[in-house]
Amino acid sequence: MNSNSGAELKRYIKEIIAPGDENGNGRVVRFRMSSGLEIIGLPTKNFYGGQWDLGPTWNYVVLADKPFLVDAGRFGQGKKLVGMMQAAGINPADLTFVLISHGHEDHDGGLAELVKFTHLKVKAHAIYELLIRKYPADAPPGPKENFPAKCWHCFMPESFYTANCLGYHRVLQQLAVDSIGSGENELMADIRSFHLPGHSPDCLALLLGNEALIVGDIVLPDISPWPTCENMFDVVAPVLEPRYTDPAAIFGLPRYIKSLRKLREIAFQHPDLAVFPAHRIYYGGQWNGMDLAERVDELIAHHVQRCGAILDILKNGPKTDEQIAREHFDRDLLEGFGSLMAATEVVSHCELLMKSGDVTILNENKYAATGSNHFETYINGLKPEMPENVN
Ligand SMILES: [Zn+2]
Ligand SMILES: [Zn+2]
Repeated sequence: MNSNSGAELKRYIKEIIAPGDENGNGRVVRFRMSSGLEIIGLPTKNFYGGQWDLGPTWNYVVLADKPFLVDAGRFGQGKKLVGMMQAAGINPADLTFVLISHGHEDHDGGLAELVKFTHLKVKAHAIYELLIRKYPADAPPGPKENFPAKCWHCFMPESFYTANCLGYHRVLQQLAVDSIGSGENELMADIRSFHLPGHSPDCLALLLGNEALIVGDIVLPDISPWPTCENMFDVVAPVLEPRYTDPAAIFGLPRYIKSLRKLREIAFQHPDLAVFPAHRIYYGGQWNGMDLAERVDELIAHHVQRCGAILDILKNGPKTDEQIAREHFDRDLLEGFGSLMAATEVVSHCELLMKSGDVTILNENKYAATGSNHFETYINGLKPEMPENVN
């Protein structure tokens, strides 16, 4: 990252409304863009324990002609967020809607509570609307029968979801959602949404004029957003079909890289964009401004490098995802739930390596190198595309 990018973000800081802590928890900030448009950053607590601290969830109020909120924090943070808005001089009743950047719990966990206190209308991508409902007939058998479809593929163990998720599941399923379609959509004058799946099938980025981009978790400073696996489509296929039939259009690492390339194109068209990510914009006592094009290139390079490292591991013989993860990741990242996340990350890279012809899968779920080395050419060939709009 370029060394003065933090300073570039600083030029948009108009006021620190609440200082919060060194990782940004509770650090309420008013940004003012060149046009005069104000964006209020409202970071809510988001700590799951272990080594994978993303930092708080940065929810944003955009004070456009019709003001709105992006994201609602984790479960239990909804009321807190309302209090933060009030402390920043925002009356939630003046907002026109809350938009959910994507359906991960650190972004919509607080949504039902927020709606209870504010009666805000909810907007999200059409896939979000489908995946928050329960479908007992299509759910995997067992304890997940009454979970929303978006949680069916979750790899967290029962001890985690009984402690953290059951209340959240119950309230989500009643929510009314105003669906946003795929491709590019005008939410209001000068504000456009882009459907950029890969980190999650329902990810949206918001372009504010020529000057700002709210990216959710699609691009983060410091950390590389976790890509989905294409095989996650199989679990929710009965819910998404017949509207969505192609797994590669909304899930997986190649899809994520296409979304990054689309952001690269947006960065090229609007070279002065300030980027507002959902985590780590402030962390460890520092502002993390990003040059969008540069950060996209870094993230793609990171995945190229990781594919290469996994292929090198497989050149010594076939291995399962867990065996690859143990060789590839640092031991402290593999503690607790980290090992499950790491194995999922390996699967998304192995899926890409299978498409490029460099890896094949054997019985016993072992991956094997084929001897070819085409992944870099394959990744370079992925185009800046968005999924087509479907009705
Ligand atoms: Zn996320
Ligand atoms: Zn997140």
